[in-house]
Amino acid sequence: MSISQLARSIAESPTLALNEEARLLRERGEPVINMSIGEPRNKAPIGAILSSAAKLTSGDVKYTPADGTPSLKKAILRYMEENYDKVAAPENVIISAGAKQSIYNVLFTLLNPQDEVIILAPYWVSYPEMVKMCFGIPVIVTPEDGSFHPRMEEIERAVSSYTKAIIVNSPNNPSGCVFSDEFIAQIVDFCERKKIYLIMDDIYHKLVFDGLKPAPAYRFTNKDLESSMVIVVNGVSKLYGMTGFRIGWVVANRKLVEIMTNIQAQTTSCTSVILQAAAEGALNGLQSIVESLRMTFQNNRDIVVQELASLNGVRVTKPSGTFYVLPDFRAYCPSSIASNSVELSKFLLKKALVVTVPGKEFGMEGHLRLSFSGSVKDILVGIERIKWALDPLAPNEIYIGDRKLIRDWL
Ligand code: PLP
Repeated sequence: MSISQLARSIAESPTLALNEEARLLRERGEPVINMSIGEPRNKAPIGAILSSAAKLTSGDVKYTPADGTPSLKKAILRYMEENYDKVAAPENVIISAGAKQSIYNVLFTLLNPQDEVIILAPYWVSYPEMVKMCFGIPVIVTPEDGSFHPRMEEIERAVSSYTKAIIVNSPNNPSGCVFSDEFIAQIVDFCERKKIYLIMDDIYHKLVFDGLKPAPAYRFTNKDLESSMVIVVNGVSKLYGMTGFRIGWVVANRKLVEIMTNIQAQTTSCTSVILQAAAEGALNGLQSIVESLRMTFQNNRDIVVQELASLNGVRVTKPSGTFYVLPDFRAYCPSSIASNSVELSKFLLKKALVVTVPGKEFGMEGHLRLSFSGSVKDILVGIERIKWALDPLAPNEIYIGDRKLIRDWL
């Protein structure tokens, strides 16, 4: 069978693959704790359910304009005004099947073959693969000080005449780090001066803790939407726990939106009218759902950080947002597996039935990404099991489900 070289070079999504593995194990009755989950566990907001149900029962389920329904666009424009203090026009907005497709469309629209896109490690697993799918070259910039916060000098050093865009994701998946306003101001200024597109992946932007109020990138430019290099990506997946509805959007200059609309029209025509109605219902409905998710995650963050502190040697950077933490296991594990996060993750799944995501997938070897979007019980049991599997000082017997397991490998 002849398959394109490019298609073959694209890696499987490790997070989706791990979720599937966890699901299969659970189906077989195994008491798996899934700490790899990238989604809140809430039920969809009632506004979203009612609005999509009304559309469905109307029976009027047809194509929509390729860039989205006028009424969802209107809700997004209001969201922009309320949350970004930015007035945009319907022509500045395109709605896609999740922020994932939004980002892919942006990259497809911007990149010529061999153009470079700067990606800041730790990064969301899909960025490098998407850049490659658009014949671009991902250029990874990893903070030299071992932190999760990017530094402008390091980014500037990675910029070349081929640099077309920089992707910034704050609050960050996988580290939970919220980048400082000072850094965002610097990078906006740099991109505006150098004419490099700044793709702000804001998908977690309201999931921030401890009273933080990060400023949107627009605050640091005096250019209007038509001349600014800032592109904003957002969606309902994480803030409203509506991952299955697959609605995301881009706010950018009209020209870019027009070209993206042509691309989307030729690939997917439009996103489902029912799901667009759901997103509209969420944006126009009660916003307390977002705050309640945020508070749950902040509480879970406190628990996960406290529990991880009992793993002597594990280095934890306290997340300021999202529902992920990215502990460094290199100084903790007694065996060589710690430096190979894929092996470490497999080991924990096999021995302790805990699903984690290897840091290698995010450009951070030696780390594991743990999601704290699950229940408090899952967090407590998950970390207890990790400790049992790796720490010679932990009691060497544990109950996993109704099985008593004895650790015989340390
Ligand atoms: N950007 C980041 C940083 C993410 O973590 C995710 C999902 O995990 C997405 C984008 C995609 O979100 P959506 O479900 O809207 O496609």
